Amino acid sequence: MAERKVAVVAIGGNSLIKDKQHQTVEDQYLAAKETTYHIADMIEAGWDVAIGHGNGPQVGFILRRSEIAHKVEGMHEIPLDVCGADSQGAIGYALQQTLQTELYKRGIHKPIATVITQVMVDKNDPAFANPSKPIGGFMDEAEAKTREADMGWSVVEDAGRGWRRVVASPLPKEVVELKSVKTLISNGVVVITVGGGGIPVIDMGEREFRGVAAVIDKDFASGLLANLIDADLFLISTAVEKVALNYGKPNQKWLDHMTLSEAKGYLQEGIHFAKGSMAPKIQAIVWFLEAGGKQAIITNPENIGKALRGETGTWIVP
Ligand code: ADP
Ligand code: MG
Repeated sequence: MAERKVAVVAIGGNSLIKDKQHQTVEDQYLAAKETTYHIADMIEAGWDVAIGHGNGPQVGFILRRSEIAHKVEGMHEIPLDVCGADSQGAIGYALQQTLQTELYKRGIHKPIATVITQVMVDKNDPAFANPSKPIGGFMDEAEAKTREADMGWSVVEDAGRGWRRVVASPLPKEVVELKSVKTLISNGVVVITVGGGGIPVIDMGEREFRGVAAVIDKDFASGLLANLIDADLFLISTAVEKVALNYGKPNQKWLDHMTLSEAKGYLQEGIHFAKGSMAPKIQAIVWFLEAGGKQAIITNPENIGKALRGETGTWIVP
């Protein structure tokens, strides 16, 4: 048998929620099914795969339910790290069930497992001094101030629309369940891990981990995982077939290929990749390649097969 190669595939929000009209659990399941069909192609072509995924909207929904149930019925609230764990479980369930069904149809009897994954962050990460990611629903000023005083929340006024909680987005430093993930992959198990960038935890000393209210960029966490398992490929699946220069401008140019130094140059120019969306993907790939990674691709789910054959997608290499 040919030597197997390992890929980390980071799947984006569009693999679970297509648009605002398709957000139900059933819709998310159908969206997951489309994406895992293309991941099955990859596995059929001989790749061992670890799958990372986003969870922003899903965590948002869990938080809103928690807030509403608390207001209406006095139910206990769910801390953000636990919302993250819940979302990893539910999203992992959809991915593993749809992928397993598709693989079975093709006669591939590969086991699949979701690993609830903690990702360690540095408690001194500068991001904690500047929380900027809004989460949860809007509050009036009185509630915001009470939450701030009683619970230590950071809150900001959002352009006249009300107050919101903001949390930090620190960098991932360590995948706590790395050994489990490696053991599974080297035994041929398809692994779903670092969901939503992982559950952010800090080390209280002697590896006593504690969840923190923060969010980790899923592309950064997936890239770190790709380095840690020495992946042959880091593939970011998102809503676009290729990456563009001057995105959305009249002189937009789709890219087939970038070298590491070109990618760094374009990032530095600051005009090509939108801050909250494409820039972190390029940054994640830059870090992956700088740490010894061999190749990365950005494309959308339906083009994964074609991209792997070198026919589309944007390839980034050292
Ligand atoms: P994901 O959930 O996959 O992380 P994001 O919305 O965060 O998705 O990022 C993908 C989006 O980035 C694309 O759908 C596209 O609209 C946007 N984007 C920003 N800059 C670029 C660029 N230079 N080239 C291509 N897409 C870009
Ligand atoms: Mg994103």
